[in-house]
Amino acid sequence: MKEFDAIIIGTGQAGPPLAARFAGAGKTVAIIERHKFGGTCVNTGCIPTKTLVASAYAVHVASRGAEYGFSVGDVRVDMSRVKARKDAASARSSKGVEEWLRGMINCTVIQGQARFQSSNTVAVNDEVLQADQIFINVGGRARVPEMPGIHDVPYLTNSSIMDIDFLPGHFIIVGGSYVGLEFAQIYRRFGSEVTIVEMGPRLIGREDEDVSDAVREILEAEGIRVRLNAECVRLEKRDGGVAVGLTCKEGPPEVVGTHVLLAVGRTPNTSDLGLDRAGIATDHRGYILVDDQLQTNVPGIWALGDCNGRGAFTHTSYNDYEIVADNLFNADHRRISDRIQAYALFIDPPLGRCGMTDAEVRKSGRRALAVKYPMSEVTRAYEKGETDGFIKTCVDAETNQILGAAILGVGGDEVIHVLLDVMYARAPYTVIERAMHIHPTVAEYLPTILAKLAPFA
Ligand SMILES: Cc1cc2nc3c(=O)[nH]c(=O)nc-3n(C[C@H](O)[C@H](O)[C@H](O)COP(=O)(O)OP(=O)(O)OC[C@H]3O[C@@H](n4cnc5c(N)ncnc54)[C@H](O)[C@@H]3O)c2cc1C
Repeated sequence: MKEFDAIIIGTGQAGPPLAARFAGAGKTVAIIERHKFGGTCVNTGCIPTKTLVASAYAVHVASRGAEYGFSVGDVRVDMSRVKARKDAASARSSKGVEEWLRGMINCTVIQGQARFQSSNTVAVNDEVLQADQIFINVGGRARVPEMPGIHDVPYLTNSSIMDIDFLPGHFIIVGGSYVGLEFAQIYRRFGSEVTIVEMGPRLIGREDEDVSDAVREILEAEGIRVRLNAECVRLEKRDGGVAVGLTCKEGPPEVVGTHVLLAVGRTPNTSDLGLDRAGIATDHRGYILVDDQLQTNVPGIWALGDCNGRGAFTHTSYNDYEIVADNLFNADHRRISDRIQAYALFIDPPLGRCGMTDAEVRKSGRRALAVKYPMSEVTRAYEKGETDGFIKTCVDAETNQILGAAILGVGGDEVIHVLLDVMYARAPYTVIERAMHIHPTVAEYLPTILAKLAPFA
């Protein structure tokens, strides 16, 4: 049995920086990875998809050359070069994480599948490791629901799609949420026919209806077909492709395509971790239950990142690391409940979101002010020829503090941080009204927009 001060399972977004914190404090730490270093974000999530988004954006702008005053002839996409660019970006980051960990004094890197033996021992390969503090950062994978026909047809997930270097003729994307929409626009811009099949009554159902509707309009304007209310999705083999049965309230009962991507949510990597041997509790979907400081029900064991079900983003996983590390090493009292919801949908134009939706504000019953402003009125947007979307925000009528915002439009993923940081400062929105912003930017419009706040209907 090998003894360490700490064991970390998984090299996602929380594990490696936590290993560095332990090692830097002179503690011995073992970090275990069963697959590629860097986990989902680096290998099959943010980095490769945003690299593809960049390629797709370049293709899109090139195909609009005439509007900007240039011509490039036929814009043709070489998928093997697109893939090579993506692979290089992922490999660079994965290698960076691996080299960082392997070069760390006091840190032992082990490759293999980790399984708990007890509440303070973990087996990996033929070894048993022991530590009084164990951190689980095992992330998740694409959920594959037991839908009719799922075992009869080939399908892609966010992982297997990373290996393709060809253009699907007609790509059917099952799932109209964040992952599905990004792939839909990417492949449409590369030249595929694309149909999104969504079971709910609208895309990105957790957003406000006006956001869902505007996103749908943006995607449909590019020729993406959207089929909603597909209550009973089933898959069937067809000559040269796949039929997806819909039982939709609108349109024919099935759509036939060449390839199918399943983008219907995530499932945590917790079923093969031996959690029962350590007595670690999960919810009915397998997410590890944690308290506000990321501790599981077993003293000395923490769960960070997607596997705890308290966030599903790179930044929430990294924030989990910061909370745990500051509490352990700086005697701080950081908590998950201190963080403000924030994320982006990286279609073009992107959606930046923070805090409450309008629906949540309405449900809270508080008195609020609100404003919504079209991107077409923002100078920077029309200079760039990218005027889709809007900026909207809600403010508490008593404290003047910002409750939430959505920026769907050019730069929305960046500009949202202006509002987010004011929310963290717990300052009134009026500080933004007095700030001098840089011209011409999207952010410079925030004071103008906030001056139009009116009672929230
Ligand atoms: C297509 C897609 C696009 C995304 N885009 C974004 C984005 O733009 N922005 C954003 O913030 N988030 C995005 N996300 C989400 C983001 O990738 C994840 O939230 C983030 O990677 C969280 O990672 P994690 O730290 O929980 O663990 P992960 O990154 O999932 O890493 C877990 C690691 O643990 C390893 N592991 C699992 N079980 C074991 C075991 N038993 N033994 C040893 N090792 C094990 C795995 O191999 C893996 O390397 C995206 C996700 C997807 C799928």
